[in-house]
Amino acid sequence: MDFSDKFYAKNAASARAWAETEPKKHEVRERKHSEPKMGICEKCKKEALVRPHRSRETDIKDGAASYGVVVHYYCEDCYPQSRRNTPTEPPMSAKQVKNLLRGAKKNLR
Ligand SMILES: [Zn+2]
Repeated sequence: MDFSDKFYAKNAASARAWAETEPKKHEVRERKHSEPKMGICEKCKKEALVRPHRSRETDIKDGAASYGVVVHYYCEDCYPQSRRNTPTEPPMSAKQVKNLLRGAKKNLR
């Protein structure tokens, strides 16, 4: 259930709404997305089991911006781990909290 994992990680609430409105469309798209296959990794240029990675890219040509989804193929080693759409922010560490408080106190003085 790889597709649902990814999707639900994005936004559980909207994912549910999506699944209810367009279940088939969504399922097909996500399954395609996570299917590994043999190919050339775009990063290390080696033949390996690659996975498509979609990224939204903005092109500016002749002063006009165009948006498109570009698919890159990466092997497991090179596959970008940080998914921009994942809202899982790591909880602040004690140190970070302290620094934050210190900064706040400084502002009060
Ligand atoms: Zn690679």
